[in-house]
Amino acid sequence: MTALLEVDGVVRTFGGVRAVDGATLSVDNHSITGLIGPNGAGKSTLFATIAGSLRPDSGRIVFSGRRIDRRPAHRVARLGVVRTYQAARVLTRMSVLDNLLVATTRHPGERLTTLVVRPRAARAYEERTRARAHEQLALVGLDTHADAYAGTLSGGQRKLLDLARVLMLEPSLVLLDEPMAGVAPALRVELLDHILALRRDRGITFLIVEHDLDFVMRAADSVVVMNEGRVLTAGTPDEVRRNEDVVDAYLGKAH
Ligand code: ADP
Ligand code: MG
Repeated sequence: MTALLEVDGVVRTFGGVRAVDGATLSVDNHSITGLIGPNGAGKSTLFATIAGSLRPDSGRIVFSGRRIDRRPAHRVARLGVVRTYQAARVLTRMSVLDNLLVATTRHPGERLTTLVVRPRAARAYEERTRARAHEQLALVGLDTHADAYAGTLSGGQRKLLDLARVLMLEPSLVLLDEPMAGVAPALRVELLDHILALRRDRGITFLIVEHDLDFVMRAADSVVVMNEGRVLTAGTPDEVRRNEDVVDAYLGKAH
């Protein structure tokens, strides 16, 4: 398999804290890769450097053969790399559908120009966008909630909405930061099904930070273990489970 994403020696500090301290890993195309590690290991910070919301101090990040570590988040997203957040980013005073429509707005100015100069094209574009939004909502089982205020959704439903939001950007790599946190058990099963279906039907690659190890071991083809800003080990779920360093550094503490 070829690597879709390569992270090579990435360092990111905050003042004196080396949040990510020389992390190296690769994510195979069409894989589901789990990223685990104790709190403070640097997982979310690493996600931010990959998605372009934080610049690494040093190291390289290559996506689909292109270096992305010096590009801002919106350009990284345009190349096909998007992330969800540990706390789902949902605009509570907007409808569920509008949450998806605003996600696709690139430049308000750009849109206004089209609207004035080519009103028919603008309308056609809006209709296509709405249809795509309904499609993503159906995919995550939220289509019946399209007109509800996003604020009325449960924690788990907000996670699903956040997933639908990033799908609007037609990504090839989706980074999910603790998708199961705060999600009721019944919805967890559903969320996993959606992730597996998105990989199967759209070929989307996933890199997933998750504390729920059962979920990681069931969903992931390979698992990367981080500790203190570095990658401790990587392998299949079975290999990682049997690795003594992992058991000492992480699993031992958690169980
Ligand atoms: P994880 O997601 O694995 O729990 P984080 O990437 O959130 O870990 O954090 C790694 C380390 O970096 C922690 O010590 C955390 O306190 C620190 N850190 C993360 N973000 C910031 C920030 N914006 N400013 C200062 N320190 C930060
Ligand atoms: Mg985190």
